[in-house]
Order: sequence, then structure tokens, then C-alpha cells
Amino acid sequence: MTKVVAYLGLGSNLQTPILQLQSARNAIQEMDAIEEISFSSLYRSPPMGPQDQPDYVNAVMEIYTTLEALALLSAMQQIENEQGRVRSQRWGARTLDIDILLYGDKQIHLAELIVPHIGIKERAFVLYPLFEIAPNLVIDNQKLIDMVNACPLNGVERIA
Ligand code: ATP
Ligand code: CA
Ligand code: CA
Repeated sequence: MTKVVAYLGLGSNLQTPILQLQSARNAIQEMDAIEEISFSSLYRSPPMGPQDQPDYVNAVMEIYTTLEALALLSAMQQIENEQGRVRSQRWGARTLDIDILLYGDKQIHLAELIVPHIGIKERAFVLYPLFEIAPNLVIDNQKLIDMVNACPLNGVERIA
């Protein structure tokens, strides 16, 4: 089966976010169809959307996977659910969010899955950790380093 390199964006702002990310990382590593390549530092970031919620902790994980993109999405949603994700307000507080940022160099435009993820270019909390582990990426013919340089940190900080 073909191994695809994919990038996952992880975020949490409820119930000890650092532990949420660690346990998500463990759950992902334990899957037979996924192998971790690298995991970024953790970043603390101000919330996007509704401001009456705690800061987020974000990270990016690089994996090899033999799963098709939609199967990867449902596997990640299952991990979100296992960690108590409740879907209410758009961009509201959550124990765990896992987005598929990139899936090989595939362009996917389905109702339930858009890849590259639509938020990458404007979101410092995605761009900075992604750049840390994959500085040479090119997304939609644009160099990641150029996207990073065009995106101010906006309060995003690497956690020591
Ligand atoms: P955003 O997608 O703007 O970061 P969010 O992560 O808060 O917002 P969710 O409520 O987690 O949004 O997901 C809403 C829907 O987005 C999911 O049900 C899923 O079908 C869809 N979706 C589309 N593209 C992707 C992707 N690349 N990764 C994860 N989910 C995606
Ligand atoms: Ca998200
Ligand atoms: Ca999501």
C-alpha cells in the first residue's frame, strides 16, 4: 500500500490542553496505518472567533499513512470524540481539534474534506509549527516560508 506524507494540525483549549495534545499524539501513533515522522513544539495562541474562551495550545504532526484521506479524517474525528469533543458554537472551545492540513500533494474538494486545509495561509498557529518541522514545503505553488513571513505571530508563542 502507498505511504502518503500528511500533516495534521492539532489544537485544544479545554481540560488541560497540553495533556489533550499528548494523548492525541499517542492515539495517532498507536494506529497501525500511521507512523509519526515528526511533531512540532507546542504553541500557545489566542482564540480565533469567539474571544470569551481560553487560549489554545496548538501543534503540527507529520505522519506517514496508508489510509485514504477520508478514512484519515474519520479516524481523527473518532479520536476527537474519544477525547470528549462536543460540537456547538463555530470555532468554540474544544478539548481537541485535529485538522488534515495536507495529504501528500493532493487537492481534495469534497463536502466533508477540503485539502489543503482552507485556514493554513492566514493562521499563525498553523504556519509557525508547520514551518518548524517542514521548512521547505510548497503549498499551491507558494513557498511556506513566504507565507510565514507574510503572517505576523499575532500573539502565538512557542511553549518552552
Ligand atoms: P476550521 O476547519 O475552520 O479549522 P473547525 O476545525 O473548528 O474549523 P470543525 O467543527 O472541527 O471545524 O469541523 C467542521 C467540518 O470541517 C468537519 O466536519 C469536516 O468534515 C470538515 N473539514 C473540511 N476539510 C477538513 C480538513 N482538511 N480537516 C478536517 N476537517 C475538515
Ligand atoms: Ca480547526
Ligand atoms: Ca476541525
